[in-house]
Amino acid sequence: MRKLALHWQIIIALVLATVTGLIFSPDSAIFGIRFYAVFDFIGTLFLNALKMIIVPLVVASLITGIAGIGGGKGLGRLGAKSLLFYMTSSLLAILTGLFLVNLFNPGIIDGQAAKNVLGLSADAVATVESKVGGKDTSDIAGVFLSMVPTNVVAAAANGQMLGLIFFSIVFGYFMTRISEPYAESQFNFWQGLFEVMMKITEWVMRFAPIGVYALVAKVVMNTGLGAFKPLAVFFITVLFALLIHFLIILPMLMKLLTGLNPVRHFKAMAPALLTAFSTSSSAATLPLTMECVEKNAGVSNRTSSFVLPLGATVNMDGTALYECVAALFIAQAYGLELSLTTQFTVVVVALLTSIGVAAIPSASLVAISIILATIGLPAEGIGLILAVDRVLDMCRTAVNIFSDSCGAVIIAHSEGEEGLLTGEKQA
Ligand code: ASP
Repeated sequence: MRKLALHWQIIIALVLATVTGLIFSPDSAIFGIRFYAVFDFIGTLFLNALKMIIVPLVVASLITGIAGIGGGKGLGRLGAKSLLFYMTSSLLAILTGLFLVNLFNPGIIDGQAAKNVLGLSADAVATVESKVGGKDTSDIAGVFLSMVPTNVVAAAANGQMLGLIFFSIVFGYFMTRISEPYAESQFNFWQGLFEVMMKITEWVMRFAPIGVYALVAKVVMNTGLGAFKPLAVFFITVLFALLIHFLIILPMLMKLLTGLNPVRHFKAMAPALLTAFSTSSSAATLPLTMECVEKNAGVSNRTSSFVLPLGATVNMDGTALYECVAALFIAQAYGLELSLTTQFTVVVVALLTSIGVAAIPSASLVAISIILATIGLPAEGIGLILAVDRVLDMCRTAVNIFSDSCGAVIIAHSEGEEGLLTGEKQA
């Protein structure tokens, strides 16, 4: 009997998880064992396994990738192309969000600023404080400062990806500048490490359907459907904007720049997209993103090992879009006049902060608090969106990694790579 493709297994897990989550409440138990606790355990185990792979995979893939590119010219060209793609796609995403938030005005309910209608519970304010603390615009500078880590081991231990990426790029670059026997043994070592990490990824991926089932059942149990009603217009605005970016703008960009068939790319990326959706973390999904981009989409290791780890950290289209819509929704809800200057400020700060947002669940909230501070609103405003944040996080994370993968294909094509999205390299 033919084995069901991984993405189908994950889709079935998603459906079953939604049904389970709707049937049971967080307190449901059998023989005194709470389902919620079991799902939490299994989901965390799966997430831990994915996270375990990240540091060695990112370091090894970047070092071998950069060393493979060799000279400064190739690296400069690849870097410039990647940054151009990241900026363009994120900006397009933000502008889509900006357009829709102005069209739907989710923060205005029956002609009134929604703050009064929705109310802010003391609970929500406390959660906001614990999640985002007192952030302001000076934190943007902090993000860029952490690019050069004082201690690379600490950066790895604390998941400071930007610092780790910077170190790996510099290491890979200078590895090609040392004498032959050392350079070769270094290269073999890092290449070997990279291959081992990819094998571990393949192995962890086999558990994806179970992990996804547990993670999603937990979210559905927690959130239920009630939370969506008062925030329905906001929810739909974000979802609609994300869908436009995901289904129209990115595929069009890809078709225009490469002539390749975007439908094939959706198919190639399906397991990674579904995992991003279930885990709400681009970082945790990175191993799968690399696996799908290399094995299914046929992008070379040279390109993907540079574009993807960097992209997972700095290129977050879904996040940038969400930040813009959420900040303007809160501003509308507080009755703030949305002048052109305010909107422009939101666009720029959303673009900058999306670069620094950590690739973990709910990380956008910190960035949104920075935007709110910039336009003169209190951080408690975030309390308005908390109820639906988790589900929207799932959607924006999938968009984040889809954008990275489109970038990898577009850049690979521009570098003259052949056999992209032909299905030939499919596992
Ligand atoms: N969860 C998102 C990610 O990992 C970041 C965010 O928007 O909160 O890509």
